[in-house]
Amino acid sequence: MAFGLSDIREFEDEIIKIRRYIHAYPELSYKEYNTSAFVARKLRALRIPVKTRVGGTGVVGLLKGCRRGNVVALRADMDALPVSENVDVPFKSVHPGVMHACGHDTHVSMLLGAAMVLSKHRDELAGQVKFLFQPAEEAGGKGGAKPMIDDGAMRDPKVDYVFGLHITGTEARKVFALRPGPMMAAPDTFRIKIMGKGGHGSAPHETADPIFAACQVVVALQGVTSRMIDQREPFVVSVCNMHSGTKDNIIPDEALLEGTIRTFNKRTRSQAKKYVKRVAEDVSRAFKARAEVEFKPDEYPVTVNDPIVTKKVISILRKIRGTRTIECKLYMGAEDFSRFLQRAPGAFYFLGTINPAKGCVNTNHSSEFKVDEDVLKYGSLSLANIAYEFGKPS
Ligand SMILES: [Zn+2]
Ligand SMILES: [Zn+2]
Repeated sequence: MAFGLSDIREFEDEIIKIRRYIHAYPELSYKEYNTSAFVARKLRALRIPVKTRVGGTGVVGLLKGCRRGNVVALRADMDALPVSENVDVPFKSVHPGVMHACGHDTHVSMLLGAAMVLSKHRDELAGQVKFLFQPAEEAGGKGGAKPMIDDGAMRDPKVDYVFGLHITGTEARKVFALRPGPMMAAPDTFRIKIMGKGGHGSAPHETADPIFAACQVVVALQGVTSRMIDQREPFVVSVCNMHSGTKDNIIPDEALLEGTIRTFNKRTRSQAKKYVKRVAEDVSRAFKARAEVEFKPDEYPVTVNDPIVTKKVISILRKIRGTRTIECKLYMGAEDFSRFLQRAPGAFYFLGTINPAKGCVNTNHSSEFKVDEDVLKYGSLSLANIAYEFGKPS
């Protein structure tokens, strides 16, 4: 293997320092101005040429090796979430209501760590390494992968392989997890507006109660899972947001439901949308209300790891001492990294950070999400080794 722990040791403090800085100053989707300026400065300091404002606040660095080979892209997302941090660390978020609760701060620091190793060893590198620092992964279908691709991030030079790493609070520390083929779901977001007829709470028979209809819709939607979609297909429908009413004795005119659908193939995806719409409309109608169902456009596809590439990635990861690599189950979570994988073969993989001894026990997106910083160097090492191995001419 190209790089081992001895190659990363000198950069470990810097990687942790970067992570803490970005953690303290989190920025929401497409607002990563400070983060991207910081990333560009760090790359330039490593003598890596940089393009800024790629697809919004995105940054692309290009490191040329000394021999011909493949162009390998490594991606880190940079945005934080609208969450108030509930972890007491010295580098706690200074921006109220904004937190790196998905760990994208660690992605930026781990990728910069990989850039440090790779730029130091550029004389031994074949091919080119493209560093993709992406805005707005958390923005759903409007996430930053698409505008970066539209802005030419995967061209000039054309990317041959693309890789992404995500820290996860659902695997033990120092565990890499991935699988060949489909890895993460396709998301669809729905909004159901239920329109009834309001009135006095004491006389519901005079009204068309949208709250009652909405409650029936929430329950009935689980019938899509258990009675309408083939049980052999992974599928989730969740209502995550419910709003209606103003006062304790007024039956309101309207109720609003919002939620998400997760699927793994095109057929189930289109069936699911059809059934959700039908159930919402027909159940509402049964209770004298009317439902309007909308799906957000431009949602991204399933994240599919190239099987041959993934096999090679697994063999590279297994050589990193002190870590373990497992083949994970399907994740019902979703990633707009899937858009990069539509442009070039590659793989997306996780690095676990559960460590009860340090209180790192909560999952991503939790206000108490905490990362075991000891794992960051392994993330950097994995990215550097993947770039090195896949850069070799095939
Ligand atoms: Zn997230
Ligand atoms: Zn994330």
